[in-house]
Amino acid sequence: MIRHLYFHIPFCPKLCPYCSFYVETGAKNKTTRFLEALLRHVESAGDAHELRPETIYFGGGTPSALTCQQLEYLLGGLRERLDLRAMREWTFEVNPATVRADKAKVLRDDVLYAVRQKHQDLLTQLAVSIQGYLAIDLVRKNNLELIKGVDRATTTTISALRTAVIVAQALANQKLVLDQITALNTTTANLIESTSQLLATQGVAIQRQSAEATIGIQSLQRSFDNVYQAMDSIDTFKVAALDSMKQTIGTLQGEIDKAQSYLTRVRVSDGKSTSGNDLNLSL
Ligand code: SF4
Repeated sequence: MIRHLYFHIPFCPKLCPYCSFYVETGAKNKTTRFLEALLRHVESAGDAHELRPETIYFGGGTPSALTCQQLEYLLGGLRERLDLRAMREWTFEVNPATVRADKAKVLRDDVLYAVRQKHQDLLTQLAVSIQGYLAIDLVRKNNLELIKGVDRATTTTISALRTAVIVAQALANQKLVLDQITALNTTTANLIESTSQLLATQGVAIQRQSAEATIGIQSLQRSFDNVYQAMDSIDTFKVAALDSMKQTIGTLQGEIDKAQSYLTRVRVSDGKSTSGNDLNLSL
């Protein structure tokens, strides 16, 4: 790749006596053909090599000896044939005696404009690069802060969390104990209150009971009445039973008396004497 080009413009208004360069003077009829040949040479060089010029130098001779039209033809032809995106520097040898305002304008428009445009592009790229660098640096610093944050999270925050958990557990245990104490106090108070109420009511009942007879007098009277009634019923039953028993005894005695004759008949039939052994079954 070719990055630096030199174009020799071998024309001068006059030949200096000390000049050692190849120079032609008074050859205005050759200038146009020379410029055409120069551009064709650029084309052929572009076919043989990759031309990405960063600097172009116009020397001589006296390049500023070219007319405005010749300069525009030369510079316009180079722009058409060369990739000038990498251009950083244009150099143009000038003889002040050959430059007028119109020629200076051509040089400024065709050369200085391109140079400044490139300069502007370079500055833009530089600004973008600086902005990117600053952004990357900021991202890097932020990443460092994030790393510190993670480190703090794994140390300080975790430690704080552990402490908070321990405190929370302690508070929860205290709450449980407090609830149990409260429940115990409440139960005790309720028990005391209920026992006091029971004592109040039950004490009166006890005093009342102690003041009263052990067995109610009415119950005792009813018991006596029942006893009396039972004794009367027994006596009545006995009286009735005596009559019944007397009647039963009479019936039985009759039957026994009746059976005596039958017993005697049996003994006689069996040949055995029953004298002296008579059975007296009277009651
Ligand atoms: S090249 Fe320079 S020294 Fe030679 S004649 Fe031209 S102006 Fe003079």
